[in-house]
Amino acid sequence: MRPIVTQLPSAQDLSDQILHHLTHTQGRGPEFATIFDWRLAISYTIRDQIVTPWMRNHRTSRNQGLKRVYYLSMEFLIGRILGDAIINLGLDQQMDAALDILDLDKQAILGDEPDAALGNGGLGRLAACFMESLSTLGVPAYGYGIRYEHGLFRQRFEGGQQVEAPEDWLNQPHPWEFVRVDYSYEIGFKGHVETVDGRTVWHPGESVIARAYDTPVVGWKGRWANTLRLWGAQPTNLFDLHRFNSGDHAEAAKPEALARTLSRVLYPDDTTDSGKELRLKQEYFLTAAALQDILRRYMDEHGDDLTGLPDKVAIQLNDTHPAIAGPELIRLLMDEHGYGFPEALQIARATLNYTNHTLLPEALERWSTWLMGRVLPRHLQIIEMIDAEHRTSTRRPGHVGILKDDQVLMGELAFIMANKVNGVSALHTDLVRSTVFYDLNKLHGEKIVNETNGVAPRRWLRMSNPPLAKLLDATIGTEWTGDLDQLRLLEPHATDPAFLDALHAAKRQNKVALSQGLLADLGLKADPDALFDVQVKRMHEYKRQLLNILETIALWHRIHESPNGDWTPRLKIFGGKAAPGYWLAKSVIHLINDVAATINKDPVTAKYLQIAYPPNYNVSMAEKLIPAADLSEQISTAGKEASGTGNMKFTMNGALTIGTLDGANVEIRELVGPENFFLFGLTAEEAAAEKAKPGHARAAIEKSENMKIALQLIAEGRFGRAESYFSVLDRTWNDDPFLVASDFDAYFDSQRQVDAAYRDTRDWDRMAVLNIARSGYFSSDRTIRGYMADIWHVEPAPGL
Ligand SMILES: *Cc1c(COP(=O)(O)O)cnc(C)c1O
Repeated sequence: MRPIVTQLPSAQDLSDQILHHLTHTQGRGPEFATIFDWRLAISYTIRDQIVTPWMRNHRTSRNQGLKRVYYLSMEFLIGRILGDAIINLGLDQQMDAALDILDLDKQAILGDEPDAALGNGGLGRLAACFMESLSTLGVPAYGYGIRYEHGLFRQRFEGGQQVEAPEDWLNQPHPWEFVRVDYSYEIGFKGHVETVDGRTVWHPGESVIARAYDTPVVGWKGRWANTLRLWGAQPTNLFDLHRFNSGDHAEAAKPEALARTLSRVLYPDDTTDSGKELRLKQEYFLTAAALQDILRRYMDEHGDDLTGLPDKVAIQLNDTHPAIAGPELIRLLMDEHGYGFPEALQIARATLNYTNHTLLPEALERWSTWLMGRVLPRHLQIIEMIDAEHRTSTRRPGHVGILKDDQVLMGELAFIMANKVNGVSALHTDLVRSTVFYDLNKLHGEKIVNETNGVAPRRWLRMSNPPLAKLLDATIGTEWTGDLDQLRLLEPHATDPAFLDALHAAKRQNKVALSQGLLADLGLKADPDALFDVQVKRMHEYKRQLLNILETIALWHRIHESPNGDWTPRLKIFGGKAAPGYWLAKSVIHLINDVAATINKDPVTAKYLQIAYPPNYNVSMAEKLIPAADLSEQISTAGKEASGTGNMKFTMNGALTIGTLDGANVEIRELVGPENFFLFGLTAEEAAAEKAKPGHARAAIEKSENMKIALQLIAEGRFGRAESYFSVLDRTWNDDPFLVASDFDAYFDSQRQVDAAYRDTRDWDRMAVLNIARSGYFSSDRTIRGYMADIWHVEPAPGL
């Protein structure tokens, strides 16, 4: 292959091209152009640059018949694209200069882009980081997802309570996508199955068209770009002209309305298994469209013999949401391509892999056989065949299987149909082996592997933290961006006072910028020298935002008791959305906001304690908050958080962690060193034992003065009407399934150690350096290399 010659455009080239797009693509003269017009013109200019590596991918992969990875995910939490693309292309300096020539404000331009929120949280963000790392490593890959018209809802607070508003990112031109009208597939639902001459035929009762919308994802240094292919639903026949002409206008538009609902909204909850027909249809829509596309491409390149599929195709199922891929692939091989069941089963199993993301029972997907049989009648038959074959071939115990109590267990289906099953952190993978898939693991010993999650350092360090990136470049060179293990080179600087000063200044710069934002958005006057203590993530009981706010209340009370004490000033920052139907999580939001309102206007404690809860936490907000954090709150009940990825972003950006032995916290602590991590709380094993004790909540509360005080202040109505939080208080006293009470004192004490440590600025900064220096393992490049070696058996394109 020819060596890759990267000719970067100059600032003048860029500004010429921007003006060209402004005029010829946007149809606006510069004197009339709005920020929006400029942003689109700039995006098209950058997109032009991505097309070169994108075409390189298409040609190389096809001409050389390379094996490809297909990542199927119901969620891609992409965030803004422009800034990341500029960085990855290595065009940041040229673009800054081009914007100077055009007299444009970069922050205003970047901030104008809607935040593409086609996901809920960690699971979707992982998929987005993986897409970027696959391109960085030059692995031929496609991401497949759904082009939701409305991503995750927007969050506002009214009277301290969450109010949801629809999100409308596609209400304006989306400059990054290419619509592929020629790649459209018909997707059927319902109907009936019949056998004709020994062949089974499914006659769907409804169908829609899946249309491909492609977004190129460029990797570091712009050498390679993969495709994120999102499916939008279209009606099979646009509308019924006959009906329309006879005056029945509403009825004529019905097929269109029906189809569009499929790709209209993202389900705002990935932590419960919602037994909704529309959700099942969405999952099948994504999976069926992806599989038809994969088989079409395979046959184009390798001919009609599908027995070689596993040599050229590796499919990864991100959680069980696309687990219908097993039966669907078998259906295509049998009913459309004439393979027998045993052969179809074998091909499918060699091609598919499944990532488990949760052990929470309420999140394990299951569908009633009744619903499955009605929406996907042929698939239910095939699921029964898979289950029967597994029963006979493994002679498994009677309670193991895919079908149980008239339900289809999607975890079991995914497991049995997968070549490899992976957990997402060392602890989680152990628990996958010993709990949810205990029996299946005994039958299939080599199947479960661990691939600890990671995050993309281009977005989560170089782009989001310019002051730190600049310092790193100046200290250890720029290679860390594509090889994060190089951060190790920082270790010797942990004792260098000049370096520590520079690191402190970089962090402070981020804190000042965040403070200005908080002042503008919330009217909160923050002290940039206070300890910035941040907990941002979805609101969920197991993540225990309640523990954090109760500790805050107890601390406030203690400060009141001795207002002249030697307190360490702290700003507690919360961020996160609750699923709209999750009442308890919503009460915790209400409580945090009410506590903030009370504490923030208390003159006695003002210089020591403040609380900020900016609404609508999303990727863009994470990019601002994480670089400004001193302390990262990773306080889930041990055994409940599969991995976490927020924890990794914080570590990379030089925040110290206060956390439990849960998910990837375990690995973070081992790597950064236990002396540079604030550990507290029960272990997963201890937590399970504690939970089994009757009356554990009440017993723990009675023992804890601080916890009792916090609960009492709430019950007295000090932060608003106590009735508002009745369900929270009741659950804490009487049930406390996530052991807030049992861990409370340990957490409170650990926070006081944090207070003390933060006062020794030099030493705190030294620990921060060690956290950064030892965080290289948490690059998603390392994670993807693990999947490549252990699961997919793919290589990067030659020459990359
Ligand atoms: C990283 C990230 C998450 C995941 O955070 P956890 O703390 O691992 O739950 C969720 N939402 C957004 C916007 C993120 O960037």
